[in-house]
Amino acid sequence: MGSTRVLVTGGAGFIGSHLCKKLLDNGCRVYCLDNLSTGAKANLSDIIGREGFLLAEDDVCEPFDFQVDCVVHLASPASPVKYMEMPVETLRANSVGTTNCLELALRHGAKVVLGSTSEIYGDPEVSPQPETYFGNANPVGPRSCYNEAKRFAEALSMSYHRAHGVNVVVLRIFNTYGPRMQAYDGRVIPNFITQALTGREITIYGDGKQTRSFCYVDDMVNGIIKAISSDQAVGQVINLGNLNEITIMDLASRVLKKCRSSSSLAFSPLLPDDPRTRCPDITLARELLDWEPEVPLDQGLEKTIAWFQRQGEKD
Ligand code: NAD
Ligand code: UDP
Repeated sequence: MGSTRVLVTGGAGFIGSHLCKKLLDNGCRVYCLDNLSTGAKANLSDIIGREGFLLAEDDVCEPFDFQVDCVVHLASPASPVKYMEMPVETLRANSVGTTNCLELALRHGAKVVLGSTSEIYGDPEVSPQPETYFGNANPVGPRSCYNEAKRFAEALSMSYHRAHGVNVVVLRIFNTYGPRMQAYDGRVIPNFITQALTGREITIYGDGKQTRSFCYVDDMVNGIIKAISSDQAVGQVINLGNLNEITIMDLASRVLKKCRSSSSLAFSPLLPDDPRTRCPDITLARELLDWEPEVPLDQGLEKTIAWFQRQGEKD
């Protein structure tokens, strides 16, 4: 993929910044478009100034143009706390923003890799979730600004593929974690780690019996890069995530143990429409992308905790 030119929207965010770095390491020219609403320039400190990298501090909902071979569209708030604080911005980034990415692709003959989400399955009645499952999502609840926005982005991408022949790949990203998650963006892994490291109470929503399957960011980035390069993936909707499904209580005890923390647990009500279960079926990713997550949760948590500890020492 040496000479490929890639636009990463949301490239200053958690997943986007790791992706930009890996693409540059692979010899790509990388354009990052980000309005820094939930991301940070600091996430790009190791690549700003590197040859072949350009940061444009812009909103994906405003017109933009870059001569590229591929657009990876990740620009959107992703944490439930953040997207519920910014519902209209979230809907716009995934509707107007996705339209802008697809129109750019149409003009330049580029491919679009859409960063969708497992949230489109809502509170699933089928587990693990295959791509053929239509989901069980509330279309008007407080999380709908995200799940419906992503559903629209998927439908729009598939429509540009069918009607205009744009090469699109829709990736349904399941919970991903690792260094550079914002300490206070409200997602469970940064919450638990920062709480455990500072001796504050670990906030468990509901009874903690709900499940998630956590994928380490390096694995996710490898999957996205495979989707960028793959011809077989064009016109497909593909789950990317780890199969190791655990309860939130189990996650809390692992984090406490690894941080050698004696923080106590504090229970509070579940957020509205919080899915009770989530686990990907990755048969298609294995077949089409020859992709499989490799980093076990314990190892990924240790790397993430070490990163948060280093951040704490800097502050
Ligand atoms: P993040 O919040 O760290 O990154 C999102 C980035 O998009 C931020 O840098 C933010 O500033 C930028 N952004 C938001 N709105 C924008 C706009 N209008 N114009 C330009 N930039 C904008 O989140 P993340 O975890 O890195 O998620 C990246 C993508 O992956 C999102 O689309 C998200 O829906 C998807 N995703 C992530 C996960 C996960 O567990 N991390 C799971 C499912 C899907
Ligand atoms: N959660 C929790 N305590 C927290 C943050 C989250 O118990 O401090 C739970 C939340 O209710 C959900 C799960 O952890 O069931 C994952 O939440 P997150 O916000 O990370 O992502 P989601 O998968 O809901 O998008």
